[in-house]
Amino acid sequence: MSNKKEEKSTAAKLKEKLFRKTVSGCCKVSEDEIAKADHFCEDYKIFLNNAKTEREAVAYAISAAEKKGFCEYDRNKEYKAGDRIYVNNRNQAVMLAVIGKNGTHNGVRLGIAHIDSPRLDLKPNPLYQANDLALFKTHYYGGIKKYQWPTIPLALHGVIALKDGKCINVNIGDNEDEPCFCVTDLLPHLANEQMSKVMTKAFDGEQLNVLVGSRPFNKDEESENVKLNIMNILYEKYGITEDDFVSADLSMVPADKARDLGLDRSMIASYGHDDKVCAYPALCAATDTDIPESTIITVLTDREEIGSDGNTGMRSTYMADFIEDLAKADGEELRHVMAKSTCLSADVSAAYDPTYSSAFEANNSAYINNGAVISKYTGSGGKYSTSDASAEYMAKIRRLLDDKNVLFQTCELGKVDGGGGGTIAKFVANLNADVVDLGVPVLSMHAPVEVVSKLDVYMTYRALYEFYNA
Ligand code: MN
Ligand code: MN
Repeated sequence: MSNKKEEKSTAAKLKEKLFRKTVSGCCKVSEDEIAKADHFCEDYKIFLNNAKTEREAVAYAISAAEKKGFCEYDRNKEYKAGDRIYVNNRNQAVMLAVIGKNGTHNGVRLGIAHIDSPRLDLKPNPLYQANDLALFKTHYYGGIKKYQWPTIPLALHGVIALKDGKCINVNIGDNEDEPCFCVTDLLPHLANEQMSKVMTKAFDGEQLNVLVGSRPFNKDEESENVKLNIMNILYEKYGITEDDFVSADLSMVPADKARDLGLDRSMIASYGHDDKVCAYPALCAATDTDIPESTIITVLTDREEIGSDGNTGMRSTYMADFIEDLAKADGEELRHVMAKSTCLSADVSAAYDPTYSSAFEANNSAYINNGAVISKYTGSGGKYSTSDASAEYMAKIRRLLDDKNVLFQTCELGKVDGGGGGTIAKFVANLNADVVDLGVPVLSMHAPVEVVSKLDVYMTYRALYEFYNA
């Protein structure tokens, strides 16, 4: 036996000292850490199955937070270090705060993820009959590839608000004993014209109609009898009439449940990883934090997928208003608090996909199992529409994650000029805080079934936890 293994060349030693390490993340962490990741993700899957819409995510987060001692914020009350509070913004966004030893005097630590995901929203007047079929008209929400949504089982989620002030929760289609719904597609035998179209034209937004019924009411010879039968089923179940659709937030989402992916069960296939895969770690990091140095605020926000506009999105003043209330209680001004605040914008990035390697630049891509991914900037067309974290702030985050042995990597969202995208980072940066994007790399982002690695989910939790507790 030779002991060649132990003899490293000068070049090999120098490489080890100077080069970025590029071995798979799984080789860098212990078996124990991988077991913890697998365990963490069992509960993450439960969250995914119970939080397909932002409203469901808010309800889940509040219930989980209350179990860990969080109470609804009251601006007339005085809070001390270790107090745990939440603010529910219209059941569509939620903020959780743990008051720190220094309160807001040295700024706050923000962890922000979004809880809305791409889907098919019902139009305000959705139900119609065509021939003998009843269908819902939809308007897609967020950036989808339309061809991915026909011929998969869909579930109906959302709320119907009635004129008398009652709000009805709707959730049909996820369980095997419930009916599901679907958008139909043309059979290949008759699709010569469709198949010759370019992908963006093959499916029209107005073709994303959801099939919801086919039997007539009472076999009467009335017109629109199939529609009547569906309306009658909805009336008997929820007490609603057709006019009530106008005051509803109803969405069609993929009906499948989150499942382990791969023979090694190393990944999770599910709808909605973007961005529940960061929202859930952020929620856990918040509820697991005891008494932080600076006040920590976890924001689970809405509307990110449609540009963050609206009163529940990050262009709204709701987060700054809350921080201002906390600042005032400490005798501080909001602007002074924001200038000292730091934020992890917890959102997903694209995982390098070897099947579509030409879309990526291999040296600046995120890889499955290489840990939480930091994106110094996102945007498109020459760093447009992004905040681009400073070198100093990047150094601070690197140091923290290295010190705490959190596995992380950095990336750009694909090739330069290959497309692009944005996150909420810039809206927080515009409030004069330091922000960088940190989250989980995702395969098939925005598809009805997205893929993440369990290790990366867990490392994102650890990054957020250490950020809150630094
Ligand atoms: Mn996202
Ligand atoms: Mn997205």
